[in-house]
Amino acid sequence: MLRTGLGRDLHRLVKGRRFLLAGVELPAQRGELAHSDGDVLAHAVCDAILGAAALGDIGSLFPPPDPAWKDADSMALLRSVFGMAKQSGWTLVNLDCVVCCEEPKVAPFRDSIRQSLAQALEVSVDRIFVKGKTGEGLGPVGKGRAVEALAVCLLEKE
Ligand code: MG
Repeated sequence: MLRTGLGRDLHRLVKGRRFLLAGVELPAQRGELAHSDGDVLAHAVCDAILGAAALGDIGSLFPPPDPAWKDADSMALLRSVFGMAKQSGWTLVNLDCVVCCEEPKVAPFRDSIRQSLAQALEVSVDRIFVKGKTGEGLGPVGKGRAVEALAVCLLEKE
């Protein structure tokens, strides 16, 4: 059986926060504002996997008001989500992601981000891809006030 999943997340960008994509810190003037560490890509990937496996969504599993998730390591959340999917018999066929922001540029960090995701999702790096896009100066992403991530995955079960 094959199942696709789609995830999307957006975080405000503010000074004094780290800019994290799948656990990789990119040098940037502003970082993701969130109750957790704000890793927008990790959150989108969590929701893609949870959606494909029909196991819930990140907001219901790790509710933002819960102090347990304050400054949470989002890659630990992703490993936990993938563990749930694995327990239900799912493995990852592939994952494709888009990160939208004005800065920093994602491309120089693409391979580190792919490696980090491949490690968390227990697959070879050739099953993971990540692209960076800008907002063309339009909307909150284009004005540099937010970063958005989209992820689509394919899960397989015997
Ligand atoms: Mg989020």
